[in-house]
Amino acid sequence: MASSPEVRFRMQATGRRDTPPELALRRCLHRMGLRYRVDYAPLTRSRRRADIVFTRKRVAVFVDGCFWHGCPEHVTWPSQNAKWWREKISRNRARDQDTERVLLEHGWRVCRVWEHENPEEAAVRVLFALKRRSPRFRVTRAGMT
Ligand SMILES: [Zn+2]
Repeated sequence: MASSPEVRFRMQATGRRDTPPELALRRCLHRMGLRYRVDYAPLTRSRRRADIVFTRKRVAVFVDGCFWHGCPEHVTWPSQNAKWWREKISRNRARDQDTERVLLEHGWRVCRVWEHENPEEAAVRVLFALKRRSPRFRVTRAGMT
């Protein structure tokens, strides 16, 4: 299937941790004073991992690549083997949804971030998800108190 340089690049880019958008988001969260686990399985009985995990607050963050997860704004279909790619990406999406459903069932909150999103804005969204977890969680200019 890896028939063109573009396709090879895409295949290599999947499943990798520490991608640039992930690192950018982690830097923002860290600057906000937040501490988290990276590439961590939130549920003991499932091996599926989230990119950024707040174990105490039970918030799992996924940073999704626009291509692999079928971002509505940026998904492009390689001209070769288009059907195969569509199926592959829809399987990824189904898997994403399933992971999310299982987490929600176990009382987790899920934040999904597209790789194209501004990391600062995404970090604020994560912050609000954490905030909703505890009414006494205050945000100050200096970070969390
Ligand atoms: Zn996108």
